[in-house]
Amino acid sequence: MNRAHALVAFVRTLWVSRRRSRASFLRWQDRAYARWRRRDVPAVSFYAGRRDLPVIDKAAVMADFAAFNRAGITAAAGWEAFAGTRRIGELTVGASTGTSGNRGLFVISEAERFQWLGVMLAKALPDVWRRRHRVAVILPLHTALYDSAAQSRALRLSFHDLNQGWDTWLPALRAARPTVIVAPPKVLVWLAAQGGVSPQRIFAAAEVLDPPDRAVIEAAFGLRLGQIYMATEGLLGVTCPLGRLHLAEDVIRFEYEPVGALVSPVISSFTRRTQILARYRMNDLLRLSAAPCPCGSPLQAVDEVVGRSDDVFRFGPIMVTPDVLRNAVLDADRAIADFRLVQTGPARVVLTLPAPAGLMAAQAALAQVFAARGAEVEVVAEVADLAADARKLRRVRVAFDAQ
Ligand SMILES: [Zn+2]
Repeated sequence: MNRAHALVAFVRTLWVSRRRSRASFLRWQDRAYARWRRRDVPAVSFYAGRRDLPVIDKAAVMADFAAFNRAGITAAAGWEAFAGTRRIGELTVGASTGTSGNRGLFVISEAERFQWLGVMLAKALPDVWRRRHRVAVILPLHTALYDSAAQSRALRLSFHDLNQGWDTWLPALRAARPTVIVAPPKVLVWLAAQGGVSPQRIFAAAEVLDPPDRAVIEAAFGLRLGQIYMATEGLLGVTCPLGRLHLAEDVIRFEYEPVGALVSPVISSFTRRTQILARYRMNDLLRLSAAPCPCGSPLQAVDEVVGRSDDVFRFGPIMVTPDVLRNAVLDADRAIADFRLVQTGPARVVLTLPAPAGLMAAQAALAQVFAARGAEVEVVAEVADLAADARKLRRVRVAFDAQ
């Protein structure tokens, strides 16, 4: 039965993405969304008897978790299950990584777990039905989502926990001889330097993919790097065969809030029935593609997942998005391959490079970015070892509370 759910989702995903025009796809999505809105959304207490769908966020959901899932599971019960078996009856409980105050829970049914697998495979490995892939997933958090893949006959899956020391899981990874590797970009960079694996396909997941990392990874493996954009909230996008990321609009309806030249998505997960995510504001920043992708998919293409909304630097009313800051640093001097940039106060940022080369040029470039926007900002520049900071994967981040 579970495999049937995966198979139906697999076929449906391929069928939907092969519809010809954007207009015809949107008509299909409108019908699916309307059905979910009518039948499934009112089944959880937050929406029972309510006509409007206000935009909500993680804080709203976590403040009254039981009101957003059919089973009425409270956050306390969810966290307790997550610490133990990660099951409540037939439901699976998962959680996002993050600092304790900022973590999100989710509950999904068995059917949804296998649908997720089917959608994921159809997008990432559409030839899975004729080739037996050995997939290695290297992520900071093991969720039961991956167990559904481990149970399938179509592929062999090994999971490697990033929270263990990297030298702990590397021998197991090599022994698994993966043909497909899914990992954060920084791990792929590191893995390329270690050698001993020769995948046929590689996917970046779970953190922002900066252009310099992409170049290093693709050169080291001699492969095109795919991208899987996912979050606690589900699977949000996967790259097409031409290497462009497409949003998973066949399972999620996206609305957008503008943030400078970028957008922050507000999502409605219209195939999920156990936990309702309706008009849920994500903490991500995307640059949408202006033109459709030549691959012919009707799904919205994304030029880049830039970072997180709370990593936008704000100086009073002036804001600067992480992509602008990153480009200023990297374009300042070709010697710069890695850096950290942290806003540490209302008018202060700290730039850290692993070596002196390019430091002054990058400092000047940042000062120019801020000055051009009329912000008076102190740019502190320093040289320090970034390797010790390897698990803090975001290059641009805000480390003080603006409120
Ligand atoms: Zn495409």
